[in-house]
Formats: sequence, structure tokens, C-alpha cells
Amino acid sequence: MTGDTLEKKKKIIKTIHIDADKCNGCRACEVICSAFHAVPKYSSNNPARSRIRVIRDPLRDVYVPVYAGEYTPAECAGRDKYTIDGKEYDECTFCRASCPSRDIFKEPDSGLPLKCDMCESDPPLSEPMCVKWCITDALTYEEREEEAEAEVEAEDIETGLESMADKYGLQKIMDTIARMSQKD
Ligand code: SF4
Ligand code: SF4
Repeated sequence: MTGDTLEKKKKIIKTIHIDADKCNGCRACEVICSAFHAVPKYSSNNPARSRIRVIRDPLRDVYVPVYAGEYTPAECAGRDKYTIDGKEYDECTFCRASCPSRDIFKEPDSGLPLKCDMCESDPPLSEPMCVKWCITDALTYEEREEEAEAEVEAEDIETGLESMADKYGLQKIMDTIARMSQKD
């Protein structure tokens, strides 16, 4: 089978669009995220356990919703400052990392890092809970389909190799590949 004739597999890309200008700092998103992820579900709420945090500075009218991203074991060595529409923000404002330099995005009891999982659940939700609870539309959700040809190609190669290994034995396949690569 060639790359041209591969059946293209679809994958869903999930995006939450953040319009910080619409955020009023109500923190409903933090409350519902922590309640949704409580065990049992909805048994408690604690914004410190939320996977979205709103960086707030009401005196300067600054409200920036930020989603928890990857864990990082070390903090950055430098700091940048951003000025947007006359308001100053430091670099950590927009950072999604669960990092040693600050308290957010860490489970308060265990200290374990938190990461947004887009409210993965079974059955799946039509949209993430924080989006549903954001009445100002500062958070909006969209899904789009993308073709994942490379993954399909890798899977096809694996399946083909498995069936050849079943038929001829793995060692024979490896010897043949080694011979072929010497010819190149
Ligand atoms: S629910 Fe919406 S408006 Fe309220 S803090 Fe969160 S993002 Fe901002
Ligand atoms: S998408 Fe779900 S897990 Fe992620 S921050 Fe929103 S409520 Fe929390």
C-alpha cells in the first residue's frame, strides 16, 4: 500500500479559546473544574484544585484565565514583562506550567501537578465544564477534525511487519532488513 492510497484517519483537535477581555474574574470556572474532578464527583469544590486558574489583579482590571499544562521540575532562569493595551503582565501570568516557583496547578494535599484533561469523561461532554459555566463567553470551545496520515502509515507498517514476522519469523525479517540497508 502506498502513501497515496492510505485511508486517512481522523483525529479530533479540541480547542478552548480564551478572550481575556471578556473575563470578569468571577472564578466560576475554577469552582466547577475542582468540583467536576472531586472524588466522588461534585462532592467538594476548592479552586486550589482547579486545572484552570484566573490570574487576577482587580485594581488594574487584569483577569487572565490560564489552563494547567505540563509539569516542569525547574523554574525558568529569567523573567520577561509584557505590555498589552497599556497593562503590564509578567511572564508567569501566561505560563501554563506546574512549576516549583508558584503554588498554582498543584494538588494542595499531595503537591502533585495538575493538568487540564479537557473534562475527559464517559460518556463525553458536549463541551468542557469551565466553558459551560462561563456566562460571559470568555471561554468558548471548538472541535475540528484533522487527518492523521502519519499515524495511520506507522500503524500500517507495524501491521505489515507483524504479519510477515508471523509468516517468516522475526529473525529472518531482521536479517533481510539488515541486508537491504547494506545495499543502500
Ligand atoms: S468563568 Fe469566565 S468570566 Fe468567570 S473567571 Fe472564569 S473565565 Fe472569567
Ligand atoms: S476543560 Fe475541564 S479539566 Fe480543563 S480546566 Fe476546564 S473544567 Fe478543568
